[in-house]
Amino acid sequence: MKISCNVLDRQYRMFESEYDAAALRVLKSGWYILGNEVKQFEEEFGKHMNAKYCVGLNSGLDALILSVRALGIGEGDEVIVQANTYIATVLGITENGATPVYVEPDEYFNIDADKIEEKITDKTKAVMVVHLYGQASRMDRIMEVADRHGLPVIEDCAQSHESCFQGKKTGTFGKIGCFSFYPTKNMGAFGDAGCVVTEDADLAGKIRMMRNYGSRVKYHNEIEGVNSRLDEMQAALLRVKLSHMDEITNERYVLGKRYYDGIRNPKIIKPETLAGVNHVYHQFVIRCAERDALHDYLEENGIQTQIHYPIPPHLAECYAWQGYRKGDFPITEEYASTVLSLPLYTGMKKEEQDYVIEILNGFRGEV
Ligand SMILES: *Cc1c(COP(=O)(O)O)cnc(C)c1O
Repeated sequence: MKISCNVLDRQYRMFESEYDAAALRVLKSGWYILGNEVKQFEEEFGKHMNAKYCVGLNSGLDALILSVRALGIGEGDEVIVQANTYIATVLGITENGATPVYVEPDEYFNIDADKIEEKITDKTKAVMVVHLYGQASRMDRIMEVADRHGLPVIEDCAQSHESCFQGKKTGTFGKIGCFSFYPTKNMGAFGDAGCVVTEDADLAGKIRMMRNYGSRVKYHNEIEGVNSRLDEMQAALLRVKLSHMDEITNERYVLGKRYYDGIRNPKIIKPETLAGVNHVYHQFVIRCAERDALHDYLEENGIQTQIHYPIPPHLAECYAWQGYRKGDFPITEEYASTVLSLPLYTGMKKEEQDYVIEILNGFRGEV
């Protein structure tokens, strides 16, 4: 059997006629940028998130970049962020000229909430929290520390659609929540898309202006903006997906739980879930001391896996100027050399998953 990391057409086929109708509606409307679909989507997603404002954008990266910028954070400022994240999180900071200050992750792959305070200086301007792999971070402790120091929290929710901490959705704890709708995300579009949600009218207004060349009124450019508009087609398709998020999220949870219950191999460390959190399994990430051997063994058996992420940002080539070395963040580096993401996607069949579990349990390794 051949198992890919992702089979994206299955999530299309699940609600095929609804997507077709939405796409045709846009094509025939004669209006393709910043129209009724985007307006409706922003209203619906905001309501769904229980957030006052939602601003549709071109991508998750733009959501991060514009959030940091709208908060007035730039050169000379520091932003606290976990060390084991995707490069986009850190780019949200460095694209604005600010400096990322890294914190090691906890055993759930999220920022270690107990190690934030020691990194706060008089240059710290925000805390960026990433709910990695689909599980909410320890938001009670994080908010307590950030509030005590008067620091805004920016949430990177690119992987955590619908994940909650103590019943409250990720993206609604901090000053602003940043979402990606990249096709492989839990709420994926059919192209690039993203958004922010916030309770802050000023912040929402600023980002709304920034996304369209810095103008509220056409050709009246109040600030130096960018082009980061969510288009009508993606908005229309996302409205369909949003209406099915309960079902989509539940399916991923069931798939994650089946992996968790089915994998019984002492060489494999399974991902644990923090108490009070619902894991939405954007990725099902196992750890293995013989990771590379396990990867090759799975490959030989037709199973594709991925590594999220092999090189942490502090060791990335593009950030050599930050001056970090191997060994500076040992937990992060240990994760980078042991993590492996198993295939898990909308529409994955039971027999496909059973096969992955059977092969995994048959891994004997080198010793
Ligand atoms: C995907 C992702 C992003 C960026 O989203 P894009 O829409 O691809 O720009 C940011 N942060 C994390 C954690 C992600 O996984």
